Amino acid sequence: MPPPLAKPVTPKPAAPAPAGSGVIASNDGVLAAAYGATSPDSGLVPLTLARRTPGADDVEIAIEFCGLCHSDVHAVRGEWGGQSWPLVPGHEIVGTVSRVGSAVTDFVPGDRVGVGCMVDSCRECESCLDGLEQYCENGMTATYGAVDRRNGGSLTQGGYSSSVVVDRRYVLRVPESLDPAAVAPLLCAGVTTFSPLRHFDVEEGDVVGVVGLGGLGHMGVKLAKAMGAKVVVFTTSESKVPAALELGADEVVLSRDEAAMDAANRTIDLIIDTVAAPHDLNPLFRTLRVDGALFQLGLPSEAMPPVNPRALIRRRIAYAGSLIGGIAETQEMLDFCAEHGVVADVEVVRADQLNEAYDRMVAGDVKYRFVLDTSTLQVPAKEADA
Ligand code: NAP
Ligand code: ZN
Ligand code: ZN
Repeated sequence: MPPPLAKPVTPKPAAPAPAGSGVIASNDGVLAAAYGATSPDSGLVPLTLARRTPGADDVEIAIEFCGLCHSDVHAVRGEWGGQSWPLVPGHEIVGTVSRVGSAVTDFVPGDRVGVGCMVDSCRECESCLDGLEQYCENGMTATYGAVDRRNGGSLTQGGYSSSVVVDRRYVLRVPESLDPAAVAPLLCAGVTTFSPLRHFDVEEGDVVGVVGLGGLGHMGVKLAKAMGAKVVVFTTSESKVPAALELGADEVVLSRDEAAMDAANRTIDLIIDTVAAPHDLNPLFRTLRVDGALFQLGLPSEAMPPVNPRALIRRRIAYAGSLIGGIAETQEMLDFCAEHGVVADVEVVRADQLNEAYDRMVAGDVKYRFVLDTSTLQVPAKEADA
């Protein structure tokens, strides 16, 4: 039996939050049902969050779906370090607006909206003014696990939850024509692959290599194809070859097969590397043409083998990194996906399947993104855990 439907409930008048608890007590905020971790080895357990009362610029969202990103696994298992607990992950959020603050004119209750990896930034630095809020010089506020400087210094908590309150400037409009469960992964996996493809001006005639066929990788294939590129997938999993071709890849190369890698020598213009574990990039550099580029998107928790400078120098190859995308670019990506009918391939899971889904994701056993159906969360407890 699935657990009962989760509905945000209005709490009784709240007691003041204990000093240092990070909880903002309020009389008309809501308690939200959630799943999160209480320590790096707790796994995901039911938790209750105190969401803030919407301020003048805030949008309160009843969450319907939230994608499971490999970054969530790195974070809740403490693989990147520097994490605070309890921690509710989730930054691929889709839902409907339930309430708006008095200054919000661009969203009304009932609108379908999304929230990605950030919920705030300084709004004043050069990066923010350029629409590159993800590179905010004063540090963007991540959707979970970040100090929410504008909201009493509480810690942000993410989308494995029944509701969230976010400043209107960081809320995306989700095209109604797209399936909301399959749109959720666009908010991270989609924009993270879209942004370097756009930065490189990918167009018809370009050859794009996608390394790692997981959540990010499969979006990379779909987006690069929609931009008109020829797509070559590099995978470690022989079992994924037919699926990669079905997704639209023109060629698939087994990255551990030296002969296949040699055959791909000097064939690619741009590589987006989405692998979540340390791996040797030097064989990939050899597949690039002169002036090619490799964008590192995956963020393994351990060090990567060293890059051989000779491999870069000999063909004027650029080795770059890229972090998600700005807010305007995320909206552009959503609109592009609506125009081209692009969504993620998802497996929708219940809250009580989250731990198993994490293990399956780490084992590469998902095609290609798990998405949590938040209607399967428990009813929130009477008091908040965070
Ligand atoms: P995912 O769904 O787990 O996909 C990762 C893929 O990497 C796997 O499907 C697998 O593809 C390949 N892989 C090869 N060896 C692996 C190994 N030993 N362990 C795990 N994967 C291995 O992960 P994701 O959600 O796409 O995220 C990928 C990485 O990007 C993560 O490190 C995540 O933190 C990072 N990320 C970065 C950004 C950013 O802004 N730059 C945004 C989101 C996520 P094959 O089977 O095809 O080889
Ligand atoms: Zn992510
Ligand atoms: Zn800034």
